[in-house]
Amino acid sequence: MDGTTAVTTTPAVLILLGPPGAGKGTQARKLEERFGLVQLSTGDLLRAAVAAGTEAGKAAKAVMEAGDLVSDEIVIAILRDRLGEPDCAKGVILDGFPRTTVQAGALDDLLTESGQRINAAISLEVDDAAMVTRISGRYTCGSCGEGYHDTFKTPAKEGVCDNCGGTEMKRRADDNAETVASRLEAYHAQTAPLIAYYADKGVLKSIDAMGDIEAISDALATIVQGAMD
Ligand code: ADP
Ligand code: ADP
Ligand code: ZN
Repeated sequence: MDGTTAVTTTPAVLILLGPPGAGKGTQARKLEERFGLVQLSTGDLLRAAVAAGTEAGKAAKAVMEAGDLVSDEIVIAILRDRLGEPDCAKGVILDGFPRTTVQAGALDDLLTESGQRINAAISLEVDDAAMVTRISGRYTCGSCGEGYHDTFKTPAKEGVCDNCGGTEMKRRADDNAETVASRLEAYHAQTAPLIAYYADKGVLKSIDAMGDIEAISDALATIVQGAMD
């Protein structure tokens, strides 16, 4: 015996809750860097499935373009597969999942199977009007996925990604005025009830997400640090 005790740590699980445009993706990328965690965005996974033309992608395409939620069955299967990949052992930030109580229950079951727990479910609070402005000005770097905004987050050199130097910027097919109403409705009807679900479990944290990106990031880092101990 060398006198040391083996310390087993289970990978952290953080959930970012919030309406479309709240800043979940923006903040998840920052937490990824700060804490060495892996961002899992079901929106990104679904967009990749659509681009690859998989069965799940074919089923999801029109639903996403209409601003409705993709079926629980498809989303849970995609998330389960992704969570099983080795890099998730670093701990994960769930961005955009769960979005329904059925998905929340499925996540609980998956975590029970792997002996993990939810460290914190953090609700990013923004008003509906801000959400519309944020979504309609959103674009991302096609090479690295860094997020930008026409007004609130512009690259130092127009059209050139600060992060990777890429020059191909993309806008999402569903980021338009027509889908915003359905996405907001889906959020209020199906996702907002999860705030009470996680409050009941004692893991809910809330953050005012109306401020600027860096201030929110610092406040979030304090919450996450506390939830990892
Ligand atoms: P979500 O993942 O919740 O849909 P994003 O992180 O993609 O949201 O943010 C939506 C848009 O708003 C992006 O264009 C992003 O650059 C911008 N954004 C994110 N956080 C803020 C903020 N605190 N203030 C202003 N704009 C923001
Ligand atoms: P945002 O938070 O900006 O609305 P996402 O990239 O998270 O964007 O999601 C884009 C679309 O993908 C959603 O409008 C929905 O159609 C689908 N989607 C993503 N995550 C889920 C989920 N957990 N359950 C059902 N549909 C989802
Ligand atoms: Zn880039």
